[in-house]
Amino acid sequence: MEETNNKNILVTGGAGFIGSHLCEALLKLGHNIICLDNLLTGSVNNISHLINDSNFEFINHDIVNPFYKDKIDEIYNLACPASPIHYQYNPIKTIKTCTIGVINMLGLAKKNNAKILQASTSEVYGDPQIHPQKEDYNGNVNMLGFRSCYDEGKRCAETLFMDYKREHDLKIKIVRIFNTYGSNMTKNDGRVVSNFILQALNNQDITINGDGSQTRSFQYIDDLIEGMIKMMNSQNNFVGPVNLGNPNEISIKKLALKILKLTNSKSKVVFKDLPDDDPKRRKPSISLAIKNLNWKPKYDLDKGLLNTIKYFEEVNNIN
Ligand code: NAD
Ligand code: UDP
Repeated sequence: MEETNNKNILVTGGAGFIGSHLCEALLKLGHNIICLDNLLTGSVNNISHLINDSNFEFINHDIVNPFYKDKIDEIYNLACPASPIHYQYNPIKTIKTCTIGVINMLGLAKKNNAKILQASTSEVYGDPQIHPQKEDYNGNVNMLGFRSCYDEGKRCAETLFMDYKREHDLKIKIVRIFNTYGSNMTKNDGRVVSNFILQALNNQDITINGDGSQTRSFQYIDDLIEGMIKMMNSQNNFVGPVNLGNPNEISIKKLALKILKLTNSKSKVVFKDLPDDDPKRRKPSISLAIKNLNWKPKYDLDKGLLNTIKYFEEVNNIN
């Protein structure tokens, strides 16, 4: 985070989980931030502490509709629901956000000659057959299933980014984010870390989908934010895609047991049906990020989970 020049930076999806942390970090670095969000899954609560900062502006806007603004130096495009229950709620809207919305943001970047970073995802690898996943793996994606609106939408977004670079020489960056957790995750967004922590805190059953042998590799939010900013500030000829994730792989069952222990909970574990196309294993190769960004995650799972448990204890008591 060595940059000192202050820039005008647009963060789409800035009222969401990752976006709100990104806005805060960029503000701390002295930049002027415009946070664009339609509040579909985000919340003003996530940015209420930033609203009074004169360098911060919130605009309620849906990126599927064009947005005009000049003097923008950089765009971080995060707008898109990320949790399976959210992106499957209105799948056509999810695809529109990943395509029409992305074209709108690429057009805005072109007009401003701004650098633009796409928040892509490990979901572009689908249910991967190669382990760990490297950036040159083209993935194993079902284009017909319930997850397809997100997976294929995000894949198309990457294609659009590459074509805008090839056709218009746009300055682009693509990061593929692996499962991330931390404060400002929505209570009811159905993702596994928030679900398990809240269930454990409320002594409710911990709902494991399938037998819990499927794996994920969880990264703490602060590590991701550092990686995203490093990527934006990297040499223009490094466009990615680059994986940003923590290679520490864990089964969902082990995650449940760990959260039970860390929360001292009396909850019992119950097993539910595994949703269609639920990836069996996921783990990033991060050698590219280590080499090109000099970045690797610092938080181990226990430390990140303890911070997140503390956050949810507070949220749980308020609402
Ligand atoms: P989130 O749902 O908390 O945030 C997404 C934000 O985008 C929300 O504030 C939402 O209101 C906003 N949004 C959605 N559609 C919009 C639209 N059409 N116009 C304007 N705003 C819109 O999710 P998140 O976890 O913070 O994810 C942020 C980005 O990172 C997403 O693009 C997601 O695909 C990507 N990502 C996240 C993860 C993760 O583990 N959290 C993993 C991979 C990729
Ligand atoms: N999962 C679970 N119980 C829950 C929520 C999720 O067992 O209450 C599982 C889910 O089926 C998947 C893993 O946890 O195997 C991660 O799910 P999440 O929705 O957090 O992320 P994604 O599947 O997009 O990686």
